[in-house]
Amino acid sequence: MELEKSKRLYEEAVGLLPGGVSSPVRAFKPYPFYTVKAEGSKIYDADGNSYIDYCMAYGPLILGHANKKVREAIAEQLERGWLYGTPIEMEIKYAKLIRRHFPSIEMLRFVNTGSEATMAALRVARGFTGKNKIVKVEGSFHGAHDAVLVKAGSGATTHGIPNSAGVPQDFVNNTLQVPFNDVEALADLLEKNDDIAALILEPVMGNSALILPEKGYLKEVRNITAENDVLLIFDEVITGFRVSLGGAQEYYGVKPDLTTLGKIAGGGLPIGIFGGRKEIMETVAPAGNVYQAGTFSGNPLSLTAGYTTVKFIEENRVLERVNKLSERLAEGIRNVLEDKRVECEVGSIASMFCIYFGSQPTNYAEALQLDKEAYMNFFWNMLENGVFLPPSQYETCFMSYAHSEEDINKTVEAVSDSL
Ligand SMILES: *Cc1c(COP(=O)(O)O)cnc(C)c1O
Repeated sequence: MELEKSKRLYEEAVGLLPGGVSSPVRAFKPYPFYTVKAEGSKIYDADGNSYIDYCMAYGPLILGHANKKVREAIAEQLERGWLYGTPIEMEIKYAKLIRRHFPSIEMLRFVNTGSEATMAALRVARGFTGKNKIVKVEGSFHGAHDAVLVKAGSGATTHGIPNSAGVPQDFVNNTLQVPFNDVEALADLLEKNDDIAALILEPVMGNSALILPEKGYLKEVRNITAENDVLLIFDEVITGFRVSLGGAQEYYGVKPDLTTLGKIAGGGLPIGIFGGRKEIMETVAPAGNVYQAGTFSGNPLSLTAGYTTVKFIEENRVLERVNKLSERLAEGIRNVLEDKRVECEVGSIASMFCIYFGSQPTNYAEALQLDKEAYMNFFWNMLENGVFLPPSQYETCFMSYAHSEEDINKTVEAVSDSL
């Protein structure tokens, strides 16, 4: 496989951008490929290679790359301008659509990234409760801001910096941790502390490999947080509109106090959303005294792309299709694994799946036992075979509406060859 142009571009980028990239997970060794275009299920690099893409920009692209309907909607909005700094009707239209699928989100605010959404949701939780501490789950990832960069997943774990430098000890002291799928640890922590504003978690963990909640876990979490007057925040930046249209909260039948959305919600353009119970959200300025603001918040392009994407998912049975394709691929890979007798497992839910080099983890400590070097060897073999997986054991693969049966068959063959 020829990667000369990508190599040269990367060598130049390293002198201009830290690590050569604009976000850490993109910097896989020895150098990443440079993308020149993407369409449907395929991504094309500067050296003329093409790959079936299961990274899908880390989650937003459930319709695949460059979906025609979304492109047309964006183009139509472009004609009318792309930033006003005033309210637009689409805010109301999209808010109603979101609330229809997420009944727990009675009121919401549009922001620009998932990081911004979790940062604001935590501030709102503190403002509303008057309490200082928050609890997160070990290995969960809620974006790259101070309060949550403690035992953080995603690129922070991939690059061995789950506790980032530059985060003051005072912040760390206010961020407590519990292991995922451990009801007792949570109950214990909440009972011993009366200064906890909120628990934030990914109901399905997608940033420390893929980790599924055990049966009844999320319901127990809801009970324990309610009993202790601690707000429950579901970070559904990945799972929203994917695990089901109403996210993991619909899938598992659990109602959080606050929810964060992003990724799919922007249809491929930058977005974040936080929302929840009306009485909590009414503390947000200018309705209340918790400050939050943004020049690009609720911008017409992101809202149009997001709204069009969610409508498309509704109207085209998108989830049915991607879930079926994902299940078929997971099955195909499982069959290969049995034949090869390698120590790998496959986990999946809806259109999220993960190939584990080791046993399927139930929490972060177990995820850290996975063989990430073996995964990276496999990743490169897959790339040589024309398949782009996320470049880390600690990320999740995503199926899109644009993938075909043929893609699935080719991928299963590629897995067989690569192993
Ligand atoms: C990606 C992600 C975020 C951060 O979203 P950005 O738009 O990258 O800031 C937050 N939470 C979860 C669960 C995510 O997967």
